[in-house]
Amino acid sequence: MAPIPQRTQQRASPAVAGYVASGLRSGVYTSIPHLVPPTGLAAARVAELTQELVTTRPGELARWLSSRPRPAGAGFERVLRDLSRHTRTLDAMLKGPTPESSATLAEVKAVLAHLPAAARELLANEKEHTFKPFGYEDALALAAARWFKHEYFRWVDPIKCAQCGGETRGTGAGQPTAEERAGGAGRVELHTCVNCAAVRRFPRYNEVKALMGSREGRCGEFAQLFYVFFLALGLEARYVWNSSEDHVWTEYWSPELGHWVHIDSEAETSKPLLYDRGWGKKQAHCSAVGASGAEDVTRAYVDGWDECLARRRAKDLGGGPISEAYLAQLITALTVECRAHLDDEERARLESMDEAQQRWIDDEKGRWREAELVNLRGRESGPEEWRAERDELGAGGAGE
Ligand SMILES: [Zn+2]
Repeated sequence: MAPIPQRTQQRASPAVAGYVASGLRSGVYTSIPHLVPPTGLAAARVAELTQELVTTRPGELARWLSSRPRPAGAGFERVLRDLSRHTRTLDAMLKGPTPESSATLAEVKAVLAHLPAAARELLANEKEHTFKPFGYEDALALAAARWFKHEYFRWVDPIKCAQCGGETRGTGAGQPTAEERAGGAGRVELHTCVNCAAVRRFPRYNEVKALMGSREGRCGEFAQLFYVFFLALGLEARYVWNSSEDHVWTEYWSPELGHWVHIDSEAETSKPLLYDRGWGKKQAHCSAVGASGAEDVTRAYVDGWDECLARRRAKDLGGGPISEAYLAQLITALTVECRAHLDDEERARLESMDEAQQRWIDDEKGRWREAELVNLRGRESGPEEWRAERDELGAGGAGE
């Protein structure tokens, strides 16, 4: 098994070409990756040949494409690439100009206007500090998470009847209306009330503006709004996707702690072992993806890295298990693609964050100590609250 490359190997090279060259030297890349486009004549020739095949021999081309063996992890790679593109789209949306169907930064900020004051209040009250050192960004993230969970967002699992408030059963899928489609909903779940038989539509919106209108969903909708809200609050944020459970949550960068911090739809902050120890989930891959790069963060979310590695070697992700080398290459490629357009200063800033994060990931004892302290401080908030929280955790995962 190839070792996971150290971030420092990338650091010496300021330009993208340098990244790729050092990747080739360190074995992260086995060949020049596709992110370096062919230039001049070569590019023109490839385009010409492709066009010729498409127009003159389409059947043959289609057969060739479908007969190619699917590399192990192709589905996994597609999800990570989609997530990466998605975060970059949201990032660009906030920077504007904004298409009609999207929300503007001003619209998002207006909804969040009360949070800085709430964060200052949390910061002033030491009892509220989930961990130490606890800075303004940590307080802001916590204030946002609590407000989001308790006031802003409705969790759709199961969805309640809009007529009588009764329980509903999932009864298939419906066609999205034009309005729902404009909100990015490619599919609509139908939920029928067991009392009054009223049918409630649950469009799976994918546009921030539509999500801010519906304010409901499951972890996907939650994570998307959360991600955008964090960015609008001036925090650095990214998604974490767990392939085994298809669960998504968020991380923000804590300047005080000097690492990325877990924050979940349960308004749990800095409890990365929630899924492993709390919910008993046997995770294999937790991948962080944001507009400024990607990282394999599995080590932060599992108790027992060696067992997890064994699970990874046995886990079929479509076409067989994926190799650690393939994963490292994918993560590096996504990071390079995200950072290719950045100036040297911004890239150096991100790389110093990478290094601090890597030190934290490597320091397993320190991470466990930190997790224990968060849990101990959680208990201080009162035995009832603690029990309620444990019951909630025992009830299972957050679902899709
Ligand atoms: Zn009803």
